Amino acid sequence: MSTLDAFELATLAIRAGHHRTPEGEHGEPIFTTSSYVFTNAREAAARFSGDEPGNIYSRFTNPTVAIFEERLAAMEGGERCVATASGMSAILSLCLGLLKAGDRILSSRSIFGSITILFNKYLTRFGIKTHYVPLAEPAAWERAIDPDTRLLFLETPSNPLTEMADIRALAELAHAHGCLLVVDNCFCTPALQRPLTLGADLVVHSATKYLDGQGRCVGGAVVGNHKLVGEEVFGVLRTAGPSMSPFNAWVFLKGLETLELRMLAHARNAQVLAAWLERQPGVIKVFYPGLDAHPQHHLVGTQQRTGGGIVAFEVRGGRAAAWRVIDATRLLSITANLGDTKTTITHPATTTHGRLTDEERELAGIGEGLIRIAVGLEAIADIKADLARGFARL
Ligand SMILES: *Cc1c(COP(=O)(O)O)cnc(C)c1O
Repeated sequence: MSTLDAFELATLAIRAGHHRTPEGEHGEPIFTTSSYVFTNAREAAARFSGDEPGNIYSRFTNPTVAIFEERLAAMEGGERCVATASGMSAILSLCLGLLKAGDRILSSRSIFGSITILFNKYLTRFGIKTHYVPLAEPAAWERAIDPDTRLLFLETPSNPLTEMADIRALAELAHAHGCLLVVDNCFCTPALQRPLTLGADLVVHSATKYLDGQGRCVGGAVVGNHKLVGEEVFGVLRTAGPSMSPFNAWVFLKGLETLELRMLAHARNAQVLAAWLERQPGVIKVFYPGLDAHPQHHLVGTQQRTGGGIVAFEVRGGRAAAWRVIDATRLLSITANLGDTKTTITHPATTTHGRLTDEERELAGIGEGLIRIAVGLEAIADIKADLARGFARL
C-alpha cells in the first residue's frame, strides 16, 4: 500500500498500513515483543539517534500498533496517528505535548465527563485553565477566545445530548486567532465524519467505542499532521509511555475493517428508534441528529453522513422514572460503554456524568430524567419491545 490517496474509505479500512513481512502472512501479525535486536552497535546508535528508521522498544515502536496507526491516519485523512492505551490517555498526551503553563483551552461544555475532570482538576495544577462555552453557539466561541487560548476542544455530536458544532466554522475561527481545533470524533468515526478534511487540526479517538465496535478493548488515538502528532504528541508517548498494546491494536484493526458497514447499520437502527421514541407517552424530548426537530439537523448529510448511533431522551418523572425504564429492560445492557454491537442503556446523571458537580451537570444540560441509548445491531423490533416494557410502567 503506497498510494493510499487513490483508495476509498472501505478499502483503506481493510488494506491500509499492512506491509507484509517475508513470511507472506495474509492477516496482520501480532508482534508480542518488548524490544528489538540490532545487527550491530552502529545500527543501534543510528536507531536511537533517529538517523535510521526502525523499531527500538515497544513503548513507542511496535509493528502491529504501527499498522493500526497508519490505517486510522489514512481513514481520517491525516498524516500521522499516535495510538494510546485509552481515549483519555490520547487527550492527556495531546495536552502534555501541545500546552504549557499559562495556556488556555476553550472547550465545549458538553464533553465526556472524565475530560472535564482532567481539565478542571488536573491541568489547572499545572497552570492550564479551561473555559467552557455552549457547543452549538459559534458567537459564544468567538467572544470567549483570548490571546492565551491555544486549543479549541469539542466533540460533535456531543455526549449524551447529540448537539452538533459546525467544524468548518470553528476551524476558521481557531485559525484566525492562531489556535488549534481539536475534535473528539468518537461518536461519528471517520466512517461518518472526517474533521481533518473540514479544517480541524487534530482528531482524538476513544478506540474503545466504535473503532473496536464489539466492546473488547480499551484504546485511543490522536491523528493530525507530522509536526503536531509525529513530533509533539509522539514525544510524550515515547517518554511517558501511555502506549497501546499490540494485541489491542490487532483487535482494533479487525474493528476498522467493518467500521463503515457497522456505522451505517447503527445509524439505521438509531434513526428508527428515535422516531419511535418521539411517539412514546412519558417521553418529553428525544435528542438525535437525524430527527427534523434537531436544531443542527442541517449538518446531517453535509458534515456527517448520518445521525449516528447514539440516541438520548428525557422521561417525565426525573431520576425515579428514568431508573424504572432502565431497570425494566431484559435485553439491553445496563452499562456506560457505547459503540458496541450490543445496545447499551445508561443514566448519564449518575454514571458518565456522576462525578461532575451539580452546577457542572446543569451547565452540561444533563437532567435527572435523561437516558442515553447507544443503539446496537440487534433487531430493532426487539430493542423497541425491551423499552416498551419500561414505558408501560411509567
Ligand atoms: C469514552 C470516551 C472518551 C474516553 O475514552 P476511554 O477510551 O474510555 O479512555 C473520550 N471521549 C468520548 C466522546 C468518549 O465517549
